Amino acid sequence: MGECLFCKIAAGQIPAEHVYEDTDYVAFEDINPKAPTHIVVIPRRHIATLNDLTPDDRALAGGLVEAGVTVAKRLGHGPNGYRLVLNCNADAGQTVFHIHLHLLAGRTFGWPPG
Ligand code: AMP
Ligand code: ZN
Repeated sequence: MGECLFCKIAAGQIPAEHVYEDTDYVAFEDINPKAPTHIVVIPRRHIATLNDLTPDDRALAGGLVEAGVTVAKRLGHGPNGYRLVLNCNADAGQTVFHIHLHLLAGRTFGWPPG
């Protein structure tokens, strides 16, 4: 937790291009964008993976989606649409072990994902 990259970004100890913040969530530009808009949305609280969520975290998980939608709409992506992605562990390609929502927008996306 002390060494967690996203905890440090949330605390302002590592710089990032923040686009949204509230008491519980932080959103910032992905350093390696996969779409014209690629924002990472995180809860301030450290939770390593989706597998670590408990029933007590329902509000936190719902709020994470809500924060992603808020950012998407503020950036004007509501009408054309956008994708919200949560990766869990190796098969999904999770590389940072602090749960995060990817907001991807600004182009069309294939389905199924690669
Ligand atoms: P994931 O692969 O789902 O764990 O997503 C982690 C994301 O964090 C990747 O899209 C990375 O490009 C992004 N990322 C890693 N380090 C940073 C950083 N310092 N600032 C912003 N985004 C980052
Ligand atoms: Zn963390």
